[in-house]
Amino acid sequence: MTIDERVLIAGAGPVGLTAAAALVRRGVPVTIIEAGADLSRESRASTFHPPTLDMLEDLGVAQSLIEQGLKAPYFQYRSTRYGLMGHFDFSDIADVTRHPFRLQCEQSKLTRLLFDRLAGNPHFDIVFSSPVREVAQNADGVTVTVEHESGPRRLTGRWLIGADGARSDVRRALGTTFEGFTWPERFLVVSTPFDFHQVIPDLVSVSYVASPERWHFLLQIPGLWRVMFPVFADESDERALSEDFAQSLMARVVPGISRYTIAHTTLYRVHQRVAASFRSGRALLAGDAAHINNPLGGMGMNGGIHDAINLTERLAEVWHGRKSGSELDRFDKQRRLVTKEYVEKQSIQNKKNLETPDPDFRDQLAQIGADREKTRNFLLTVSMINSLKRAEQLG
Ligand SMILES: Cc1cc2nc3c(=O)[nH]c(=O)nc-3n(C[C@H](O)[C@H](O)[C@H](O)COP(=O)(O)OP(=O)(O)OC[C@H]3O[C@@H](n4cnc5c(N)ncnc54)[C@H](O)[C@@H]3O)c2cc1C
Repeated sequence: MTIDERVLIAGAGPVGLTAAAALVRRGVPVTIIEAGADLSRESRASTFHPPTLDMLEDLGVAQSLIEQGLKAPYFQYRSTRYGLMGHFDFSDIADVTRHPFRLQCEQSKLTRLLFDRLAGNPHFDIVFSSPVREVAQNADGVTVTVEHESGPRRLTGRWLIGADGARSDVRRALGTTFEGFTWPERFLVVSTPFDFHQVIPDLVSVSYVASPERWHFLLQIPGLWRVMFPVFADESDERALSEDFAQSLMARVVPGISRYTIAHTTLYRVHQRVAASFRSGRALLAGDAAHINNPLGGMGMNGGIHDAINLTERLAEVWHGRKSGSELDRFDKQRRLVTKEYVEKQSIQNKKNLETPDPDFRDQLAQIGADREKTRNFLLTVSMINSLKRAEQLG
């Protein structure tokens, strides 16, 4: 079989589409193979960190995304015991990013923007309703077998990017293990149009609230607030998804307010896992296919977009014949180590900080807030800029 020159990308989520846009921009033809009949509209990630916005600006989509979202220049840590514990302002790192704020905007807005920008480009192609089932490769290229209503179909390409999400079929077909663990509790997101600014003094659009009984966080997106809570192992899915349960958790947020209009609820399992390798020959893993973590700190999708940018910068050079395939080992090394050292560690720590709101965490925040250098370093860490610097240092 003659190998097509294209790069195949499994999955049209934020990571697959970012990878496609970055490759097409460098003159590399791509075909996205997507299991769904259309782009997902699911309500999932809603936080874009400053360096991610810088990257998306380079792809020409940041401005339109910002227009559809809500700028959050501040974030806070609160506690049911101590009240406001820390207030941080991204303008303290305005010298190292063109976007000194978090953008609160649903990920489906990004995928639509990227898709619309790519549509019609002669280097871009997409096939829907075609889940990848098998992957084979040789020295020249990759062959992917997809399930299609007309029967199995084969597509070939020089390289394959598996950006097909947490349950990645590409990862499974490659035999790559997904090491880590699953938390016993699930997370429940309750969305409401209720405006918490009216009832919580000095509240900002991103606020983490520690509590030894049940932490929560409040995150504003255009038209809604999303409130997230842990759901403990002895609370059944059926109960957790009931209106009464959501109302009972929401009643803890502001004393005296007990009935909310609930727009929707999402219950999901939370894992901390990293693939044993992000590269298997001509197949590469990025985004949730390569790593998953709890959502505290909003690093899942952002880390995936950082993978896509790191990978495609190298892959384009290899595809054009300007660098050898070993350049891609640097992607594996940099992004896998940073994911382990930083994203996994930080997201686990973020969860612990909310569960055990001891005076140490309060004091730590006070010390950070009182020292300009410590504040800057803290902001560089939470905004993921330090993780990108660390990846560069790994060479
Ligand atoms: C409730 C919730 C809230 C979250 N909040 C945040 C947040 O605030 N910040 C953050 O950074 N992250 C957050 N995340 C995580 C974030 O949603 C993911 O990290 C992000 O979607 C990963 O993007 P992706 O493109 O790698 O995978 P996905 O978005 O999962 O996209 C994968 C795509 O691949 C397709 N696919 C699947 N199998 C196949 C196959 N076999 N063949 C072809 N295509 C296939 C799917 O249909 C899908 O379109 C949240 C997740 C959840 C569930």
